[in-house]
Amino acid sequence: MTQLSKRFDTFDALCPSDLEIAEGEFVVIVGPSGCGKSTLLRLIAGLEEPSGGQVFIDGRDVTDVAPAQRGLAMVFQSYALYPHLTVEENIAFPLKVQRFGKTEVRARVAAAAEALDLAPLLKRRPAALSGGQRQRVSIARAIVREPRVLLLDEPLSNLDAELRVRMRHEFARLHGRLGATMIYVTHDQLEAMTLANRIVVMSEGRIEQVGAPLELYAAPATLAVARAIGSPGMNLIPAIIDAADEQGVTLRLPEDKTLRAHVRAAADRVGEPVTVGLRPEHLVADAEGPLGGEVELFERLGPLSFAHLGARGGIGTVVAQLPGDRQVTLGETLRFSLPPSQVHVFDAQGQALAR
Ligand code: ATP
Repeated sequence: MTQLSKRFDTFDALCPSDLEIAEGEFVVIVGPSGCGKSTLLRLIAGLEEPSGGQVFIDGRDVTDVAPAQRGLAMVFQSYALYPHLTVEENIAFPLKVQRFGKTEVRARVAAAAEALDLAPLLKRRPAALSGGQRQRVSIARAIVREPRVLLLDEPLSNLDAELRVRMRHEFARLHGRLGATMIYVTHDQLEAMTLANRIVVMSEGRIEQVGAPLELYAAPATLAVARAIGSPGMNLIPAIIDAADEQGVTLRLPEDKTLRAHVRAAADRVGEPVTVGLRPEHLVADAEGPLGGEVELFERLGPLSFAHLGARGGIGTVVAQLPGDRQVTLGETLRFSLPPSQVHVFDAQGQALAR
């Protein structure tokens, strides 16, 4: 898509954006509520008319092509199935509409049912299925036309935690089996990190950054990406650039603590306000460290734990990752330092300072 945009009255739901998705890619779109994820997906599907720009599929300009003729299928979070039809009839429905022959319908329904483990349920009606089974039927119905592109808008958001995990694995397998291009909108960190070949991070109607999950995790280009990727999220602390030299910068944190960061800044940026970004797993226990506070909340996850420290002086809460077997009592004071290579710095416009 090139310079694709959508304006509702005076509101830019999508600012002119470019994005190229390769055949067979699994692309996940993330970002806070209202940032334009669904709008982008609906523009690609043709369910929304763009205010500007073009959509190409296989090099063909489909901007003015009707949704049904674009060769893609869409799965929504509300997976409306026909209640009076059996699973088999529901899956076959799009093929019947397109007047496929009986043998072809049977073969394709069998293949879709096999891909989603629905063979034993074909004669049931939707009312006799669990939430996850219904969702699998709606996915089967979407893939039965063998779309080259599958669009999914928060397909797992109505499912309970255990089913989400199972369906996440199903999607990974399905992508491997179908080889279709998948564009998937989610709020869920784990879904994004584990399923995506590339993640698209959106914020306020803009594409902020596009990249492999670990690339975005390790080097968020903007503050919005730093906020969107990682769970628990990156600690974000206000600071001032105190000094800049060949190796990096010295940052002054609230409470007059200092921290080194291996990022580049010209000498004339000294005095500039910035935001320091620290991943919870990069905090290193250090009694003399610049960051710390009393443990207000302690979450034990088994293999690891998270300590939430009530830091003073405008820092807010700082989250530190600790080993799973670390003993901690509430109210205890913990202090941490950080390797300068792991400290992210964002300027007042939210842009990351280069390393
Ligand atoms: P969520 O994660 O909450 O589903 P989203 O990122 O998918 O959010 P969109 O549904 O794409 O967000 O909406 C983007 C913005 O456009 C929102 O602020 C929304 O209120 C606005 N919007 C969407 N559809 C319309 C419409 N038909 N008329 C006016 N504004 C709209």
